[in-house]
Amino acid sequence: MKVVETEKELSIYESMAARFDVAARKLNLDPGLEKYLRTPNREIIVHIPVGMDDGQLEVFDGYRVQHSIARGPCKGGVRYAPDVTLDEVRGLAAEMTWKCAVVNIPFGGAKGGVVCDPQKLSIGELERITRRYTAEILDYIGPERDVPAPDMNTNEQIMAWIMDTYSMHVRHTTTAVVTGKPVDLGGSHGRKEATGRGCMIVTDQALKRFSRRRESTRVIIQGFGNVGSQAARLMHEAGYQVIGVADVTGGVWNTQGLDIPSLLEYVEENKTLQEFPGGESIGNMEILEQDCDVLLPAAKESVITSRNADRIKARILVEGANSPTTAPADEILFDCGVFVVPDILANAGGVTVSYFEWVQDRQGYFWLESDVNEKLRQIQVSAFNDVVQYGQRHNVNNRIAAYMLAIDRVAFSMKLRGIYA
Ligand code: NAD
Repeated sequence: MKVVETEKELSIYESMAARFDVAARKLNLDPGLEKYLRTPNREIIVHIPVGMDDGQLEVFDGYRVQHSIARGPCKGGVRYAPDVTLDEVRGLAAEMTWKCAVVNIPFGGAKGGVVCDPQKLSIGELERITRRYTAEILDYIGPERDVPAPDMNTNEQIMAWIMDTYSMHVRHTTTAVVTGKPVDLGGSHGRKEATGRGCMIVTDQALKRFSRRRESTRVIIQGFGNVGSQAARLMHEAGYQVIGVADVTGGVWNTQGLDIPSLLEYVEENKTLQEFPGGESIGNMEILEQDCDVLLPAAKESVITSRNADRIKARILVEGANSPTTAPADEILFDCGVFVVPDILANAGGVTVSYFEWVQDRQGYFWLESDVNEKLRQIQVSAFNDVVQYGQRHNVNNRIAAYMLAIDRVAFSMKLRGIYA
């Protein structure tokens, strides 16, 4: 099986900044405001001492970047990965500000990361890293300050530990300090599926524009974690033909459509989709270039670059992952006529239901899953229409339209608030 490493050309932060610059210029943004919005409010670096199972002391680096509080408390996930950098977290934090503004929810943007390899850590080590990381950033988080959430390699259990650590320090249970918690601990119904569901909602909207039906639409998904597997399940149930999926170990595909329920069971049992009997093997980068109608990258950043963008055959690109496309690839996709639903719109279902979770925690009143899903649908459909109409009005592609819409909203809030000096 060929497993190809992704090539990087611009970092996540550089791609974010390149798009920001284009959008700010088109908006004729005040130069002072432009400088302010391009820069994060606060960057926290912590070094976390942790006693390992073998009795040794290890020190892990952790980050939390808070980009903006103009529209409300900061909001954004925490990722655990051996190669996570401050620059990456900085770019993702800014993207969270734009994402929350695109879906018009009252949050600013933040992101966190801990440099560690969860595959090599015991559950006890993971818990100790999480609790000490939380303790180190404790003064800067809280329901009114900054509300973390899951991201790559972090999950409900890690959110429960963050919530508990914070609560022990402030001496009362504070569920609204994180989202993406287990439902039994103040989590929201529908949160686990929210990002994948949101991807399907925007795909449905894109299909309408091309007068296409779900049943004749072939989908390829790269990434089979939280976002990718939920998107695959929901799209399969809704009638889409999911013809290819890939994870870090490689991909599997079947032009007749994969049996997604069987694949989910297989992955649950084998922890890999390799050698799944219902399809042929394919490389996890090669899969991006196969013939399909909708391509849904839901794994990692910078997988579509200027090196492979002209080989993308999909008509519609729905960015489930954060920053899967580099800025230099944007123009190529546009020239090739690919309809791009940019990450800050496509994967905003997660943060939208996180917002619902925060609201429910603060009210102490929990909603039915059907209410969550319907409110999510309303928000994503209206954000999709806002972005597409904004693009048509200003004659820009969807990516720049989403940035312009978001920056405009954040800048407006900042103008209303003024600068405290
Ligand atoms: P996850 O850790 O649950 O899953 C990641 C998946 O990607 C795994 O299946 C992994 O095997 C696969 N993968 C990793 N490297 C790969 C490669 N080179 N080729 C193919 N597959 C590869 O993470 P997740 O929560 O599903 O997040 C995926 C992406 O979506 C990230 O960019 C994340 O920032 C973004 N995102 C997640 C959420 C959320 O709610 N979880 C919300 C918005 C955006």
